[in-house]
Amino acid sequence: MRHPATRSTCHFLILTSINYLWFMKLNASRQDRLVKPALLRGWKRKCPNCGSGPMMDGYLAVRDECAVCSQELYHQRADDGPAYITILISGHILAPLMLVIFEWYRPDPLLLAVSFILIFITIALFLLPRVKGAFIGLQWAKRMHGF
Ligand SMILES: [Zn+2]
Repeated sequence: MRHPATRSTCHFLILTSINYLWFMKLNASRQDRLVKPALLRGWKRKCPNCGSGPMMDGYLAVRDECAVCSQELYHQRADDGPAYITILISGHILAPLMLVIFEWYRPDPLLLAVSFILIFITIALFLLPRVKGAFIGLQWAKRMHGF
């Protein structure tokens, strides 16, 4: 049985995403910054404005401004959002996969747990900076937090 907080968090994230997609479509003609290129540039950890300057200084630290176009990036307020989305994506990939592998092959539970922990860590470390970059790209495109 899932914890009620997990269920409400999932519902909140899904409803927020649907609401936001509707909002983006509604306001697509009124905005001067395109969301999709900004999301893709952020996913690549590049400046959402020019797409060539690096956004991150290290693994997760965001630069104060772009080294190429001087776009200020210190406005970003990603907070825990990228971590939530990373866990959401990783969990939705790995939980069903773990169930299927356990049902098909019946491996030693300790081996299964250790191997999936390592896979989860790998996926999470891959996704986290990219999701954070996409968050910042979205905030930039929507002119949130002073961008
Ligand atoms: Zn730039």
